[in-house]
Amino acid sequence: MFTRRHFIGASLATTAAYAAGSFAPVWAQNAPNFGTPTLPTPGFRKIKVGDVEVISLNDGIARRPLVEEFVKNAPLAEVRALLASQNLPTEYIDIPFTPFLVVAGGRRILMDTGLGEFGGATTGKLLERLRAAGFQASDIDTVLITHYHGDHIGGLRNRAGEFVFSKAKVLVPAPEHAFWMDDARLAAAAEGMKGAFNNVRRVFAQMPAEMLVRFEPGSEVAPGIRSVAAFGHTPGHTLFDVASAGQNFTFVGDLTNVPELFARNPDWAVQFDMDAEAARKVRRETFQRIVANKSMLGGFHFPFPSLGRMVAAGNGFAFQPVAANA
Ligand SMILES: [Zn+2]
Repeated sequence: MFTRRHFIGASLATTAAYAAGSFAPVWAQNAPNFGTPTLPTPGFRKIKVGDVEVISLNDGIARRPLVEEFVKNAPLAEVRALLASQNLPTEYIDIPFTPFLVVAGGRRILMDTGLGEFGGATTGKLLERLRAAGFQASDIDTVLITHYHGDHIGGLRNRAGEFVFSKAKVLVPAPEHAFWMDDARLAAAAEGMKGAFNNVRRVFAQMPAEMLVRFEPGSEVAPGIRSVAAFGHTPGHTLFDVASAGQNFTFVGDLTNVPELFARNPDWAVQFDMDAEAARKVRRETFQRIVANKSMLGGFHFPFPSLGRMVAAGNGFAFQPVAANA
């Protein structure tokens, strides 16, 4: 099912997705012919997991035309039929961007950052959402990063070059950092892929040594928060498991793009998965574990409130969000 052609196709598509340049990824812009997505207000949703608060923070939504390449290994007609069966539009896809905040004791731990000042007009709302939820950027003591795509790290520094979460340590998966910061890989990268590598350098090259902390996936990154290797989407893509008082929450990052397609069909490969076969395997394994444990989960590209549970459905899984308002 996953031929070599698929792998090459996936990496070319990723390349094309970044081709608009390092600071304005085309996939984070709205497609002009399909109108503008409506953003949720106030755009955050808080739940309790044991003694811990978990808050989803909607950084915005990008509307993309649904094209053949979006799902690498399924006919467009099949993709459209699955959307239609869920009463969703079939000509375009709305992709939300959703960092999460974990408030545990005195700790305020942000997971991923959204696009910051580097995406389209309907993105970059994280700081506004944080304020609405009662927090300032300077309240954040830790930022956990799942992987180095621009929608996940873009908000770490603004256009002036300042570190937005100035008091935070930034914890990154060591294999992800090593991959993207490798100058030999940058030199060998296809022209269209260089923007992604350069964006990583914009964010991390001058980060002070005391701010940047590399961790090995599998290790504990904060009290009660364990990192979990989920390589495939990118070479060091990592999830975070939060445990408190017998309850569990997993931030699954980009284990799927929109779950309406890729949880329902875990074997489908979104164009952004760098190793589609590894991504497919870890997607199934992780969702099976989350269903078995009855964990709460949150996903970066899940529809607002982006928090809920996963249940088995057909050949895959269905996301059941909590109510949008508490
Ligand atoms: Zn992403």
